[in-house]
Amino acid sequence: ALIVRHRMRSSGRWARAMAILREFEESCGAPVGKLKQVAEAMIVEMHAGLASEGGSKLKMLISYVDNLPTGDEKGLFYALDLGGTNFRVLRVQLGGNDGRVVNQEFIEVSIPPHLMVGTSDALFDYIAAELAKFVATESQGFHLSPGRQRELGFTFSFPVKQLSITSGTLMKWTKGFSINGAVIFVGQDVVAELTKAMERQGLDMRVAALVNDTIGTLAGGRYFNNDVIAAVILGTGTNAAYVERAHAIPKWHGLLPKSGEMVINMEWGNFRSSHLPVTEYDNALDVESLNPGEQIFEKIISGMYLGDIVRRVLCRMAEEAAFFGDTVPPKLKVPFILRCKATIARLNLLVVYNYMPGLSCYCLTPDMSAMHHDTSSDLRVVGNKLKDILGISNTSLKTRKVVVELCNIVATRGARLAAAGIFGILKKLGRDTVREEEKQRTVIAMDGGLYEHYTEFSKCLESTLQELLEKEVSESIVIEHSNDGSGIGASLLAASHSQYLEVEES
Ligand code: BGC
Ligand code: MG
Repeated sequence: ALIVRHRMRSSGRWARAMAILREFEESCGAPVGKLKQVAEAMIVEMHAGLASEGGSKLKMLISYVDNLPTGDEKGLFYALDLGGTNFRVLRVQLGGNDGRVVNQEFIEVSIPPHLMVGTSDALFDYIAAELAKFVATESQGFHLSPGRQRELGFTFSFPVKQLSITSGTLMKWTKGFSINGAVIFVGQDVVAELTKAMERQGLDMRVAALVNDTIGTLAGGRYFNNDVIAAVILGTGTNAAYVERAHAIPKWHGLLPKSGEMVINMEWGNFRSSHLPVTEYDNALDVESLNPGEQIFEKIISGMYLGDIVRRVLCRMAEEAAFFGDTVPPKLKVPFILRCKATIARLNLLVVYNYMPGLSCYCLTPDMSAMHHDTSSDLRVVGNKLKDILGISNTSLKTRKVVVELCNIVATRGARLAAAGIFGILKKLGRDTVREEEKQRTVIAMDGGLYEHYTEFSKCLESTLQELLEKEVSESIVIEHSNDGSGIGASLLAASHSQYLEVEES
């Protein structure tokens, strides 16, 4: 009798756990109809953000890039990509006359955690010193025209209010950097800080272009493919940029660019809408995040957060349905438990840093992705992750299957919403339908660790975009992976904004 009662109890637990899962799944639902509403809402916000400063949650930032690379860029240029806990430094030798990239080299450096909470001088000194060391290794394949100063494209992957192509101030932190006493201050001109540091290090170099990573990716994409009109980053954070007609930007009071175009950094991570399938788990994550109320779209799509949503649902299942046995595994209660390499407690905030070469992210999404892609018959990868990271051993196959299903729900929602965002951009540009006159191709340059490494996510994104598009047009719209396009792109923009350009042209 005892055993039966126990069995009943445990089947009751299972039923309760499944009820939690199904309820979550339902609130994550993103059918095509809903995605179209999301896209429409996105378009409304795009218009509002372009109309006036602060007109929308979508900042629609003017990048001051009104000309994208043509292939004529020529010479030696540098790029610095600062977007998280590591940075990359790159040099390229551009051939000009469609010569393309003749030579390129880069290094990737992780930022020591103590510098992330020190002074901005210390951080920029460190970066400038690494940059100087890198410059010192310049050899044969690279050539600087005599009498020229080296020039740099600076990619800074946070929202920046640009004052010109070579200056801009930080508007706010995203991706978990909104720490009190953060190293760079909101309102600080990042180019001025970097320039002073380069001077202190005795490095003779000029910042020729300050760009967001989306803008860099767009420029890099366009260099290799003329049909690129937008770029999307899906990594630790998420964002998009696209080429807008200058006439369609009421808040732009400057001269009308010769090209008639202006690249817009949407900062779409901050998009929100009542049409978004936001769950109670997302709300809890938001409240406990370092930037509550901000970056809502980002928090349901991007790599920094996906794994933590999975953790939150598992935690609920453990607490309310004893999903992992009689006690709740303590590690399941720790935000961002997976993939934390160093934690720093500061000002009562737990700031979690993880520097993973190649994928700058301090999130559990790589673990989530590994579990989601587990093809072994006994889901051994899932079992090991649960054991190694969460301290949960001896899980049954049935339990592991549920974990995979949960990963699928969270990744699918994120990927489908990202597709809806892209669909919104295409629609805003009138590229969602075929125009009889011209059978134009449209290419979206895509980059970021989430897109690159989470195959189920990128597959789902692409198939969802096809679902949203009319058949006749679906073949002419292409997503292209632009591998580190943002680094090359920044150096290309440095080239097209070089101080020597006018002299040469005249
Ligand atoms: C930032 C954007 C950036 C994106 C991708 C977001 O959190 O606000 O500026 O482009 O992450 O790196
Ligand atoms: Mg990046």
